[in-house]
Amino acid sequence: MKRRALLALLGCAGAGMPGAGRAAPADGGSARQRVVVVGGAWAGLSAARELRQMAPELDLLVIDRDPVMRSLPLSNPWLVGRTTERMPRLDRAALAASLGYRFVAADVLRIDRAGRKVHTSQGAFAYDWLLVATGLAYDYSAWFGADQKAADAAQELYPAGYVANELDALKQRLQAFKGGNLVINVPAPPSRCPPAPYERAMLLAWWLKTQRIKGKVTVLDAGGGLPRFTRLFAERYPGLIEFVPYAAIRSVDPFTRRITTDDGDLPFDHAMLLPPMRAGAPLEQAGLLGLDAQGKPGPWAAVDPLRLRSPVDERLFLAGDLLGAVSPLFGHYPKTAHMATRLGQTAARQIAARSRSNGAEPTVTLPDSVCHVWLDADPLEQLRMETTYRLRGDGVIAQAVSQHDNPQPRDEDLHWGLGLYHNAFGAR
Ligand SMILES: Cc1cc2nc3c(=O)[nH]c(=O)nc-3n(C[C@H](O)[C@H](O)[C@H](O)COP(=O)(O)OP(=O)(O)OC[C@H]3O[C@@H](n4cnc5c(N)ncnc54)[C@H](O)[C@@H]3O)c2cc1C
Repeated sequence: MKRRALLALLGCAGAGMPGAGRAAPADGGSARQRVVVVGGAWAGLSAARELRQMAPELDLLVIDRDPVMRSLPLSNPWLVGRTTERMPRLDRAALAASLGYRFVAADVLRIDRAGRKVHTSQGAFAYDWLLVATGLAYDYSAWFGADQKAADAAQELYPAGYVANELDALKQRLQAFKGGNLVINVPAPPSRCPPAPYERAMLLAWWLKTQRIKGKVTVLDAGGGLPRFTRLFAERYPGLIEFVPYAAIRSVDPFTRRITTDDGDLPFDHAMLLPPMRAGAPLEQAGLLGLDAQGKPGPWAAVDPLRLRSPVDERLFLAGDLLGAVSPLFGHYPKTAHMATRLGQTAARQIAARSRSNGAEPTVTLPDSVCHVWLDADPLEQLRMETTYRLRGDGVIAQAVSQHDNPQPRDEDLHWGLGLYHNAFGAR
């Protein structure tokens, strides 16, 4: 059997064949229109599920560099051994097969918008509609400039674990810590899951205490901190957490273990170094970033806040943590998994409607976000942070935030996470 015929039988024509997978006609011709989703996590998998349900006629492909998805939500208690890894690992190919779309494990190298192709480590894939949901990337250049050796050393020795493929390295490094000054930092907003560094600081202090490790956690905060946590640090973990406000990291020497901050220099024994964050490399290459006042590309994707379409390409949609500001009132949507699933679903509904020749405008729905945060480890105490949105009369999105104490948690965080896996991704 010829290679192309075999690949077609396996339902993977295009994989591994540079230039293969020519675009199907986008005008409602006989071939199925192709949707490619780049990034298969909270935003991408939710979009895929929604697309499969709303537009089963579309040819749907999800691409992610990792065959297995791991959850960052709920990872902090696992990091210090307070819980097991409660969120299951998802086999992306098996999920795709069960829902009737294709998955390819590949690194996306380049998006060719003019030719409507995604170039990857496994060949090129043509599309009629593209959803980019690649989350975010670290920007070490703010600390190291062009010194790649220092940036690589910082990421290898002192990973922050804010991208899922770093989780094992993060835990291994922590387990090797034998005492002294353990530094974590909170970057300036916008950043991924704003309460997560504070939750982690508390859990690390709890870990030092229960493991009887002589040391302390130093929290270098670019801002003033979350009052709820800073009070708690002082009252419940005195001597174990040193909170330093307005101490943004300016530079790091990963070889001599020294950090320079706005507030002076600091030696450290171990660190979880979280550099400024930005949308990942394919966005810059594809000209999808917002521009600053000087017309230079900024760190985040430019987007139509209601339709999640790129302002420079009507066939390209964006969802998840990579989005730039959506409102003059509050700036960015919170960069949370819950929000990413909602945005993925919104983008999917837009693509499904536009792919049909009658192309009716779908109703615009605004997202919401829920975040379960651990306030203390023993006895367990949690906080639920909720964010809702409404469209004002002038067309601007307004945000409302509320916090709810949960002094006797009964796995509400786990039910929330599993609920998203089940309801948004279609995982069983
Ligand atoms: C410690 C911690 C705790 C958190 N807790 C919570 C919580 O309790 N609740 C909550 O709602 N949120 C939480 N979050 C935030 C949440 O993890 C993120 O908001 C969420 O992961 C964003 O989803 P996303 O789909 O936009 O991006 P991601 O989850 O980052 O997914 C992007 C995907 O794209 C893939 N990708 C990227 N670039 C490429 C490329 N070039 N080629 C191929 N594939 C690529 C990646 O492999 C990845 O799978 C937490 C985060 C952290 C770090």
